[in-house]
Amino acid sequence: MMENQCDSNENNVPQAEQTQAPDERLPEREAEVTVKCDYCKAENVIPKSAMDKKNTCAQCGRNFTPLSKANKITCGCMIVILILAVIGIFWGIKSCRSTPEKAEKSVNIYRSPSKYEMAKKEHQNPLTGASQIVVDYVKSKMKDPNSFEHVGTYWEEAKSGDRYMVKMIYRGKNSFNAVITEAVVVMVSFDGKIISIKETTR
Ligand SMILES: [Zn+2]
Repeated sequence: MMENQCDSNENNVPQAEQTQAPDERLPEREAEVTVKCDYCKAENVIPKSAMDKKNTCAQCGRNFTPLSKANKITCGCMIVILILAVIGIFWGIKSCRSTPEKAEKSVNIYRSPSKYEMAKKEHQNPLTGASQIVVDYVKSKMKDPNSFEHVGTYWEEAKSGDRYMVKMIYRGKNSFNAVITEAVVVMVSFDGKIISIKETTR
């Protein structure tokens, strides 16, 4: 009996060796991972080392490679992020560049009127468009100021000096009492003084 027990003990040694064998496999089992099949979404337990290899789904039998799919998604995400970043950078540069233009534009819209514009606004008859300075001057030189009739006035800012030029066409009685149409080119300073006057043909 004792011998038998010893025998059984001796028999236990290989058994212990056998139990050691699964122990050696244990690290492999620990390295197993659960992955979802690309097609049927069934969970498959595969060795971690097989993540980048073709695995056959236990449920649907189709082949799938878990890691390549994950890499593809990561790559895709990275590309999208990169594109968005590039767009963002360009958008930023564009908006930075357009800011001074916008500022310039708003300055143009809200800038104070020029000296010429102020003088024109001050001297121009809003109903006829004539320069009241010129009308008064011409009337003062006419034999019959009451016959004065304004036809049209063309304004132009002088290239230099605080002055503007108008060409005024008007009708009036001449010294022979005949109504004639005449034209004058008059240079007027912004402060309302006649600088020069020239009678012209129309
Ligand atoms: Zn499957």
